[in-house]
Amino acid sequence: METIRTRVCVVGGGPAGVMLGLLLARDGIDVVVLEKHDDFFRDFRGDTVHPSTLNIIDALGLRAGFDAIDHKPLRQLDVVVDGIRLHAVDFTTLPPPNDSLTLMPQWDLLDLFADAGRQHPSFGLRMGTDVTDVVRTNGRVTGVVARSRDGDLRVDADLVVAADGRGSTIRDALRLEPAVNGVPIDVLWFRLPAPEVPMPDTLAWVTGGTMLVTILRPGYFQCGMIVAKDSFDGIRAAGIEAFRERVAGVVKLLSVQLNHLPEWWVPGALLIGDAAHAMSPAFGVGINYAIQDAVAAARILVPVLRGDADPAAIDRACAALQRRRSGPTLLMQGIQRVVHRAINRRPRRILHSPPTRRERRVLRIVLPIARRLLPRLAGYGFRPERLDF
Ligand SMILES: Cc1cc2nc3c(=O)[nH]c(=O)nc-3n(C[C@H](O)[C@H](O)[C@H](O)COP(=O)(O)OP(=O)(O)OC[C@H]3O[C@@H](n4cnc5c(N)ncnc54)[C@H](O)[C@@H]3O)c2cc1C
Repeated sequence: METIRTRVCVVGGGPAGVMLGLLLARDGIDVVVLEKHDDFFRDFRGDTVHPSTLNIIDALGLRAGFDAIDHKPLRQLDVVVDGIRLHAVDFTTLPPPNDSLTLMPQWDLLDLFADAGRQHPSFGLRMGTDVTDVVRTNGRVTGVVARSRDGDLRVDADLVVAADGRGSTIRDALRLEPAVNGVPIDVLWFRLPAPEVPMPDTLAWVTGGTMLVTILRPGYFQCGMIVAKDSFDGIRAAGIEAFRERVAGVVKLLSVQLNHLPEWWVPGALLIGDAAHAMSPAFGVGINYAIQDAVAAARILVPVLRGDADPAAIDRACAALQRRRSGPTLLMQGIQRVVHRAINRRPRRILHSPPTRRERRVLRIVLPIARRLLPRLAGYGFRPERLDF
């Protein structure tokens, strides 16, 4: 078995893992990121780059590289409720220059971060490397074992960071149980051809009991239809012909999870991103939160890892990271739960066409608040991290 030694072994090359690898390497810390897939080209993970992430990209000096990749900034987003188009979200209320929500395929974003990491000699990224277990020495996590095309690999490290997503292998290996918040919804994920006539940027189409989120990609809409949890089999069996004809070949079920670990660390190992707290797609903040965890982790860990990497100091730093990030995460998950409950209400009309006088009065009050509040909530989340180290 090949054995390598590094200061930090990051398991999982998603937004949390690749960003953490880049930030540690930028500070000269030896880091190896292990990703089980051969490339980042996977769908169904969200495409949103939020203002807080754009701020990090600027601070890293990656703006030119980012701008060179095909992307679409969204400054205003409509929501169509019962056929009535509402101008519900206005990102221009945020401070410039990052006053937009930007759509970029996640594989492109990860490639950008990975390429930036490769500029630093202490950065290692091994694709096609599936971590199967942790290694323990005297009760402390001291590394991982993995399988790759080239054979078995063992990585010894002062710290193992699990950034391996909501189905985390490391979390299972450590026998850590997340506290699960029941989620009453799932997402049907499929593509539809984009209409030939350009239309206003539209986040979602809502009608009693159904919500369809639309993300415009070149030539097609990536659609996410929110349905009641575990209802997919029923929908398929019912054979909704028009629906099936259009999308049968490409529709997939994405099970939504919402959970959080009571403890984000054990001696020698830390969990971040979805591995510590699976986020639902509501407000599309999961990538943002994963990256914020990575930035906070780097800021807290770098001073400790630069020195003699004293195990007790590393563990204290992991505890400090949890203290910093768990509050903002739990707050956001609480709001996501409220959204799930609202979406999952019994089918009923929300607005009349045309809206009644009372509905118009409510909209006049609610819309200006939503226009300013939603961009802040989705764009930054709670306690946005800065790259000031
Ligand atoms: C339907 C749906 C839509 C979503 N849409 C959005 C959105 O639009 N915007 C948004 O911000 N968030 C969205 N999210 C949430 C978002 O996808 C996650 O919160 C975010 O990707 C978490 O990042 P992460 O780096 O923690 O984990 P992940 O992105 O899950 O990355 C984990 C990585 O670890 C790798 N890995 C797993 N196991 C191993 C192993 N054993 N060995 C090595 N590597 C391993 C995986 O291959 C993966 O690359 C959505 C979620 C769902 C379910």
